[in-house]
Amino acid sequence: MERTYIMVKPDGVARRLSGEIIRRFENRGLRLVALKLVVPTRETAEAHYAVHSDKPFFGELVDFVTSGPVVAMVWEGNDAIALCRQMIGATKPINATPGTIRGDYTCDMMSNLIHGSDAPETAAEEMALWFSEGELLA
Ligand code: UDP
Ligand code: MG
Repeated sequence: MERTYIMVKPDGVARRLSGEIIRRFENRGLRLVALKLVVPTRETAEAHYAVHSDKPFFGELVDFVTSGPVVAMVWEGNDAIALCRQMIGATKPINATPGTIRGDYTCDMMSNLIHGSDAPETAAEEMALWFSEGELLA
């Protein structure tokens, strides 16, 4: 069993897609082990995207992710990290296949609805950044 940090970004919440996104993970058979609605602080957003701090889009990305509420979640299941990434779809819109969340609902490189951890190390870091131990189910 593996756990992954998943976040509906502000555009996804604003577009009323949180339910549709949660439904897809539930339908796939993943188990929800934590969920909360939060407006990220700049500090949290910068830490979350620290790996991109040198990129030209970093400032705009932090502005975007702090622009409104996000749905922060942890999902559990077999190979949950790779499975969720597959369901989310590629970052580059032309590579986000129809049938994936991004491929079905967005063609914007930045406002792409959802974040999912990309490896066990980042999943652990992101779960610890967004949730306290007590907010996760056993
Ligand atoms: N992003 C962007 N322009 C780029 C690359 C990324 O605006 O050229 C944004 C986009 O919102 C993306 C996030 O930065 O989801 C993090 O980028 P990453 O490459 O980690 O993509 P992800 O893991 O979300 O698919
Ligand atoms: Mg990433």
